[in-house]
Amino acid sequence: MTKVSTHEIDIVKSKNTKIHDVDFDNLTFGRVFTDHMFYCDYIDGEWQQPKIEPYGPMSIDPSARVFHYGQAVFEGMKAYKDDHGDVFLFRPDENFARINKSAKRLAIPEFPKNYFFEGLTTLLNLDKAWVKSGEGNSLYIRPFVIATDSAIAAAPSDNYRFMIICSPAKAYYKGTVKVLIAEEYSRSANGGVGFAKAAGNYAAQFYPTSLAQNKGFQQVIWTDADTHTFLEEAGTMNVFFRIGDTLITAPTSDRILDGVTRKSLIQLADDNAIKCEVRPIKVQEIVEASKNGSLKEIFGAGTAAVISPISDFEYQNTIYNLPEINEHSYSSILKQKMLNIQHNLAEDKHGWRYEI
Ligand SMILES: *Cc1c(COP(=O)(O)O)cnc(C)c1O
Repeated sequence: MTKVSTHEIDIVKSKNTKIHDVDFDNLTFGRVFTDHMFYCDYIDGEWQQPKIEPYGPMSIDPSARVFHYGQAVFEGMKAYKDDHGDVFLFRPDENFARINKSAKRLAIPEFPKNYFFEGLTTLLNLDKAWVKSGEGNSLYIRPFVIATDSAIAAAPSDNYRFMIICSPAKAYYKGTVKVLIAEEYSRSANGGVGFAKAAGNYAAQFYPTSLAQNKGFQQVIWTDADTHTFLEEAGTMNVFFRIGDTLITAPTSDRILDGVTRKSLIQLADDNAIKCEVRPIKVQEIVEASKNGSLKEIFGAGTAAVISPISDFEYQNTIYNLPEINEHSYSSILKQKMLNIQHNLAEDKHGWRYEI
């Protein structure tokens, strides 16, 4: 692995900034991008000179394998700015490890660690003004890799492009989230790619999710593909259940993505004397807990929303309601603890912040 220092990234700076055209109070998630993008090509068995250029369209051959076989993986992470103007990432080492774990499963070469961190740091320093301070404000960062070979043979590509693009984000109150428990479709299967952030996992979810949306639900809770009896993930988030005073979340496997938010919440629960069990959980268990009044909360966990509380779920044509969330709900307590660490407002005893 060749060492690259900041001055070894080829940088072409944008002549002017688009930042003044952006209404930061009314952002739609993922539509506006910062002034620069990072990329690095894999050619002849090696990652080439990394580059930063003004953000914009690029030219790719129509036969590029990413278009035909979906050989692509990605990550999702965020940068936060505190009131002093310092910018932090949250556990970026986890995202780095995961993009390479995903890449390996999709037969994509691993990306070097020094390029990843140099790329991120240099890009964020150039586009620092796009990270706004204040709770709920962040810069969403999207690293991804695509197969670029111009040849439609069904085999892994010889050439790839690794990129990082960034989009300013604001947390919105989404209202109540109703979910449908999957009884027909599946997100992932044993031996499959469910644990990887593979682009195709998302494409495969769109249709069943749109069917659920037509019935008035926002998301699907995915169950195991074999029996549809075990609860696995909520949409594109990990999922937690609170029965009595105990949180429960499924163990990770080749079907369940190993979320950074999930593992951080398990740790924060432990730090705050909230019991959290990591074990398989059946749909029947939450149905019964709902009937006897012990099901207190269900929430999704992921980088985009941190925690997304669920208000109702449907299973076998019956709707089950959850109690209303208040400031004592585990979802409220744990979300605030996470946000405080991310925004440099609380002690970081596990060393999760990474200053840019
Ligand atoms: C990205 C993702 C998550 C959440 O992971 P975080 O690291 O917490 O953002 C959960 N499930 C799926 C399927 C995902 O793609």
